[in-house]
Amino acid sequence: ERSKLNRLRDTHATTLDGETISLLANIEGPKDLPSVKAANADGIGLYRTEFLFIGRDTLPDEEEQYEAYRAVVKALSGKTVTIRTFDVGADKALSGMNPRTEPNPALGLRAVRYSLAEPKMFMTQLRALLRASAHGKLQIMIPMLAHAQEIDQCLALIEKAKAELRAEKIKFDEGMQVGGMIEIPAAALSLGMFIRRLAFLSVGTNDLIQYTLAIDRSDEAVVHLYDPLHPAVLKLISGTIAAGARVGVPVSVCGEMAGDPDYTLLLLGMGLRSFSMHPGNILEIKQQILRADLGELAPKVQRILKMDEPARVRDAVERLG
Ligand code: PEP
Ligand code: MG
Repeated sequence: ERSKLNRLRDTHATTLDGETISLLANIEGPKDLPSVKAANADGIGLYRTEFLFIGRDTLPDEEEQYEAYRAVVKALSGKTVTIRTFDVGADKALSGMNPRTEPNPALGLRAVRYSLAEPKMFMTQLRALLRASAHGKLQIMIPMLAHAQEIDQCLALIEKAKAELRAEKIKFDEGMQVGGMIEIPAAALSLGMFIRRLAFLSVGTNDLIQYTLAIDRSDEAVVHLYDPLHPAVLKLISGTIAAGARVGVPVSVCGEMAGDPDYTLLLLGMGLRSFSMHPGNILEIKQQILRADLGELAPKVQRILKMDEPARVRDAVERLG
């Protein structure tokens, strides 16, 4: 089965009706480059930078981060590399982090909230990212956004980092794009303010499901209620994809749903044209795409989005295949 899939490596992910879908990789660092090459990914849709320093005692300095970002950008030789700023806190604690007991870590100081609370650490990362942008096509993605003001603060810090680099005569890509993750329901329900400020969006279904259903991703006792096909979840995902399409802002999905072949046709039918996943899943998802007819899927999925009886939704999603 694997060798059959491997034959798809150099085939474009083109649907039966001729639409080519981009299949991107989620990575944790340069160590994942061999599997990105093996799958011939169209780019990196999510570089989880927090893994650069999980399990160590000190934060990586600007130079070490720059090397880790540049290595990936260079290896992708011109393909887009989407690097997410640190998504720390909650389940992904830094050893160098100020020790703090949070009553509810998933709702606490994590991701962009943490970065904005530690501007020195954040500026180091932004400078490293900007410097790496001189070597290929790098774009920055901000995790866990809920407020317009968070984006404005990030954009201001990026401008500040650029000004510093200019003053130091250090090269970077002046046109580097900044996007954000849609993974808090509030964001999916107020897309205008995101679309006006950001160059692209990526739906993080792992957190979006967690926060929509109030299910802790890491709590075994409630994991059976973690349901990607819950009608509320489907509305938020499809609404984001549709809003991006209306105004021409690229939307991708980078949560686990994007790499699960059970959901490929559903997401295609919602209008998704960019999937980011563990590189090991890319060929299997490509196989699904090669069999898909978007013209047939779209109206079927529109009907699914109007259903609110879980058993019917599940059954209809299964019958898409
Ligand atoms: C997500 O939340 O779907 C996501 C891609 O981010 P992470 O799994 O790293 O939180
Ligand atoms: Mg997330």
